[in-house]
Amino acid sequence: MSIVAVGSIAFDTVTTRYGTKERLLGGTATYFGLAASYFTDVGVLGVVGEDFTAEHENVLRRHGIDISGVQRTSGKTFFWSGEYGANVNEAKTRATELNVFANFDPELPRNYRDSEFLFLGNIDPTLQSNVRHQMNGARLVGGDTMNYWINNTHPQLLETLKVIDVLIINDAEAKSLAGETNLPRAAQKVLAMGPKALVMKHGEYGATIFFREGAFGIGHHPFRAPALPIEEVVDPTGAGDSFAGGFMGYIASQGELNREVLKRAMFYGSVMGSFAVERFGTERLQNLTREEIDARFQIFRELTHLE
Ligand code: AMP
Repeated sequence: MSIVAVGSIAFDTVTTRYGTKERLLGGTATYFGLAASYFTDVGVLGVVGEDFTAEHENVLRRHGIDISGVQRTSGKTFFWSGEYGANVNEAKTRATELNVFANFDPELPRNYRDSEFLFLGNIDPTLQSNVRHQMNGARLVGGDTMNYWINNTHPQLLETLKVIDVLIINDAEAKSLAGETNLPRAAQKVLAMGPKALVMKHGEYGATIFFREGAFGIGHHPFRAPALPIEEVVDPTGAGDSFAGGFMGYIASQGELNREVLKRAMFYGSVMGSFAVERFGTERLQNLTREEIDARFQIFRELTHLE
């Protein structure tokens, strides 16, 4: 398998202007895994409760996702409920019930250990470090975090950032982590904490990748990928994780890592994010074809291409 992803597997109840949907299959590892599965082999590391049925499992299995790293314990699966108002970039959290996620102790199955790529989804930075050290041979490690960890577990997060190659976070989170409101200055401060590259997601406006000087042996000029202007954003949940899945999935599918590959990965990340938001939950991500993905990649190119 080429990518291992650790993160939440969840049931989400979501309200948007298109209505409310209850207990949709969601979570970071789910969105990331589905998006990445169109490019490469994925194994997921997570925990679920007794309410997680064979039908839910099959959503992942149908995409060839290895779930031998998904622990099943007594109790309920992690539950999140959120609402989106006029600003689709911002979810208002109504409820977070950690349930079995509260005692999550990730343990890498033997068949995951040789994977070349690792994605550390948004979980406690101590657990992220723990998983990272179980996969010391990884070629490229991507990671995410959020304000909760930036504010409450800062020292632990700083340790984790030393072992992440590409940090993929929202621009607001990057500014908060850096304590700096100017975008490129915030990027430089975050890169000084360890990562070789920083992908700042701008929600419906795209994403920018910044490089540490000399990292990956490529120039350090930033590169921005647009987001597709979509008229019907039915459910923004999982856009960020789907971006990360498309981004890392594409990188893993390529033999080498250079500036062109990273630029294309930014576009494939945007493509997967754009599909994710077109339906509630993971519906759209479950029913894609590689042809549809590549057709949208071309639309993205045309959006910004200049002769
Ligand atoms: P995003 O890509 O940022 O929209 O991520 C959406 C997913 O994050 C949802 O499917 C939620 O289940 C999951 N989620 C929400 N809060 C948390 C949390 N505190 N820890 C882990 N996962 C979360």
